[in-house]
Amino acid sequence: QVRVRFAPSPTGNLHVGGARTALFNYLFARSKGGKFVLRIEDTDLERSTKESEEAVLQDLSWLGLDWDEGPGVGGDYGPYRQSERNSLYKQYADKLLESGHVYRCFCSNEELEKMKEIAKLKQLPPVYTGKWATATDAEVQKELERGTPYTYRFRVPKGGSLKISDLIRGEVSWNLDTLGDFVIMRSNGQPVYNFCVTVDDATMAISHVIRAEEHLPNTLRQALIYKALGFSMPYFAHVSLILAPDRSKLSKRHGATSVGQFREMGYLPQAMVNYLALLGWGDGTENEFFTLKQLVEKFTIERVNKSGAIFDSTKLRWMNGQHLRAIPSNELTKLIGERWKSTGILTESKGPFVDEAIQLLKDGIDLVPDSDKALSNLLSYPLRDTLTR
Ligand code: GLU
Repeated sequence: QVRVRFAPSPTGNLHVGGARTALFNYLFARSKGGKFVLRIEDTDLERSTKESEEAVLQDLSWLGLDWDEGPGVGGDYGPYRQSERNSLYKQYADKLLESGHVYRCFCSNEELEKMKEIAKLKQLPPVYTGKWATATDAEVQKELERGTPYTYRFRVPKGGSLKISDLIRGEVSWNLDTLGDFVIMRSNGQPVYNFCVTVDDATMAISHVIRAEEHLPNTLRQALIYKALGFSMPYFAHVSLILAPDRSKLSKRHGATSVGQFREMGYLPQAMVNYLALLGWGDGTENEFFTLKQLVEKFTIERVNKSGAIFDSTKLRWMNGQHLRAIPSNELTKLIGERWKSTGILTESKGPFVDEAIQLLKDGIDLVPDSDKALSNLLSYPLRDTLTR
């Protein structure tokens, strides 16, 4: 069965990039009759907040991307917040310690720094070369008795390479010698991010990991952990970055970048969803107008492009206009009429005048809030006409 997940870190607002990742996961699940799981990656306790988690959930719901398992709905593979899964991570870390895939490393920070400096001088990759990879049981026992703090370090197989076949990027391979034995659990017992993600994806029976390209380097560590734990690997699909028109990474300086900002500006969720889907995907025809339901029918991962997609806010605005005009006229009257009433521009939200005004101005606006100005222009016409006559 297809099981995919969207795994936001609740450290801020839902960015358009995150929303697109969520959308592709949603479309893939719905088109395959699979499950769409929502997992909250809140291991970074300092930066994660409840408010951010709530905002992300709210934005996803607003977009219409309902999840089958996760916060608020439960499911058989919970809990769905990483902060509630610590005992599971510990259990799997100990399993790896027992099987020898992981060893205890008693190196102090100073020792580790020194190793890095030496590697730099010798122009070698900064990989772990400490003695604990090959320490005897007696040496380990001695440190345990002394109470020396230790991390759990993953033993990376030497002298080989690892290959994955990414559904979007094709074959990706890494030389394992560039990767040192890495920590999976810190000395305070806190598991590290890549370890948590792997344990979660494996124990939540995730079949396809669809996520942003920036996570591709993590995939190497995660793949090694899958193998060591004896879990079968999911399919990976790394989606390209969303770029600004100048091809730099899209950021705040380019204007609105979060879903919440667009909602506040009056964008329609159906337009947002349609536009996000086109960032790296198309159905192969000229058609660009899709409802969420149509996207579910048409979406295939094979058609996701591997080059970066440009975020064009002018096009998004245009697309909003297309969706606005696709709203049945009684619903549009309700939407705009209620806005006019609530903002105090009109005292009535219904009536022949309101209907007629909306019919007259809807072709000239892209966003619902634009209707305010359009209405006042409309109302001032006869007056201007009389004055200039
Ligand atoms: N929590 C990660 C993020 O918000 C996602 C990790 C993943 O999808 O594997 O970027």
